[in-house]
Formats: sequence, C-alpha cells, structure tokens
Amino acid sequence: MTFLNTDIFAQIVAGSIPCDKVFETDTILAFRDIAPKAETHIVIIPKENLVTAKEVNESNLELFGELFLVAKQVAEQEGMEGYKLHMNVDEKGGQVVPHLHLHLLSADFKTEL
Ligand code: AMP
Repeated sequence: MTFLNTDIFAQIVAGSIPCDKVFETDTILAFRDIAPKAETHIVIIPKENLVTAKEVNESNLELFGELFLVAKQVAEQEGMEGYKLHMNVDEKGGQVVPHLHLHLLSADFKTEL
C-alpha cells in the first residue's frame, strides 16, 4: 500500500469533498466509508491534519481519546451492540489515506482493510 498523494480527508473537513456525515464535534468528524467493508462502516477522523497514529504524544492524548469516545457514541447512535475498531498505521501498515483515522465496523466485517 502507498499513501494517496493528497489528504482527501482534509478536503472533506474543509467541505471541498462531500461526505455522508454521521457525527461531528469541534475536533472530530465521522462519516460513512465510501467503499464499505461491512454493513456499517464509518471513518472517524480528527479535523487536525495528523498523518498517522505515530504522531501520538503527551500533548495530544486527549484528541486520541476523543476518537474512541466518538466511536462509542456513533456505535450507540447506529444501534451497534458489538463492533470492531481498526486502525491502519502508515503505508507499511496498510494505510492509504494520509490522515489519521479510526475505522468503526459492524461485526459482519471479515475482509481485509
Ligand atoms: P485506510 O486504508 O486505513 O487508509 O482507509 C481509508 C478508507 O477511506 C478506505 O476504507 C476508503 O474506502 C475510505 N475512503 C476513501 N475516500 C473516501 C471518501 N471520499 N469518503 C469516505 N471514505 C473514503
């Protein structure tokens, strides 16, 4: 896998690319994945332009925690009793979009991300 050469999620945050938004806070945006790998597949991103989870540090722990808090809130909103959370980290970890994101998937997810 190689990174896309543009941060399409930053363009979604900016409003220049549309998305099927399901949840938003001042710092986080959640929208339906354009190519869902499960019946429910939602991408949760920080609005800030972080590239990968390798950028976690003492100063942004709260933002990383918010990704998980929003995942719980969206899962409740979607009526998901159980679910999967998945994050690809960097190109060698299978990440394609160069903007930090957490995948929220319904339990029927079986294929590779
Ligand atoms: P990853 O492989 O972890 O980088 O995942 C990127 C995800 O973003 C994939 O599941 C794509 O289907 C999804 N995706 C790419 N472009 C869009 C878009 N414009 N709107 C919603 N999801 C997208």
